[in-house]
Amino acid sequence: EAKDSGRGKYRYFRSQMAEPLAKRSRLEVDFRNALLRGEIEPYYQPLINLSTGNIEGYEILARWQHPELGMILPDVFVQIAEDTGTIGEMTLRLLRQACLDSDEWPHSHYLALNISPVQLRNRDLRADLCDVLKETGFEAHRLEIEVTENALIYDLETARLILWDLKIAGMTIALDDFGTGYSSLHHLRKLPIDKLKIDQSFIRTMSHSAKSRKIVNAVIALGSSMGLATTAEGVETEESALWLSQAGCTSAQGYYFGRPLPSSEAWLLDTTERQLMALRQWLSPTRD
Ligand code: C2E
Ligand code: MG
Ligand code: MG
Ligand code: MG
Repeated sequence: EAKDSGRGKYRYFRSQMAEPLAKRSRLEVDFRNALLRGEIEPYYQPLINLSTGNIEGYEILARWQHPELGMILPDVFVQIAEDTGTIGEMTLRLLRQACLDSDEWPHSHYLALNISPVQLRNRDLRADLCDVLKETGFEAHRLEIEVTENALIYDLETARLILWDLKIAGMTIALDDFGTGYSSLHHLRKLPIDKLKIDQSFIRTMSHSAKSRKIVNAVIALGSSMGLATTAEGVETEESALWLSQAGCTSAQGYYFGRPLPSSEAWLLDTTERQLMALRQWLSPTRD
């Protein structure tokens, strides 16, 4: 009896602890092959210019189409890519595919690429990215690099040098999830930043939190006084899109405008365009 319940407890413990670990190590094993087989693919989410209501760019968001487990989100596998030393390769593959895909789209928008903390310790980053740009004919000034603040804290001086490398090559630099990191303002002073991406947590709570609205206003003012663009992330409603536009936010991204889509469904972006018509009539045509 006691033995049974003991074993039961052990089983319970196992199923709570060991299975996620087993799943994780399976994913680690699968990941490298997944990269080689092209199971990691870029999805694209539009970035909307809030002065004109037009799409101005697309963020590249990685998706893993696992043959048995279905779609796996980057919150799970980016960490695996970092831990297994394959994040650099993943990034270059995504960029290469995105440059090829976007070649078939009607407009010359920019592409925004997420870079992980680990990559800001690698002085070869500029050369690696530029090789892909050269190979695909995609111009460097159409590439925006998104770095999260937390990415920078390990070695700020190396990160600074690498970001300057990218900037000198013509790319623009956006600080992602702005407002959630440890020393946002310190980073802003030290690094060659062109754009602030206001974290979704502020945007999502804007409708019911005066504090969030004040913070968003302050970030927009900070950006504008420093000559930086501001992008609002996670915009899900028309109200917040209009509020942000009136507050002087430069651009926006979120489910209201469009979810991340695979290149094969790029035709759905026409839907986004139609939806934007409604927004455009509210936007002030004088501001730019
Ligand atoms: P992020 O760069 O801040 O990207 C925005 C995330 O918010 C994306 O999640 C996007 O799908 C989601 N999102 C966009 N609009 C909305 C909205 O209106 N509502 C809500 N609830 N969510 C919205 P996703 O694609 O799951 O990516 C999560 C994070 O994973 C990204 O956050 C980024 O930090 C990282 N990531 C994605 N792709 C890559 C990559 O290729 N390399 C690296 N290093 N990181 C990546
Ligand atoms: Mg991002
Ligand atoms: Mg973000
Ligand atoms: Mg994020």
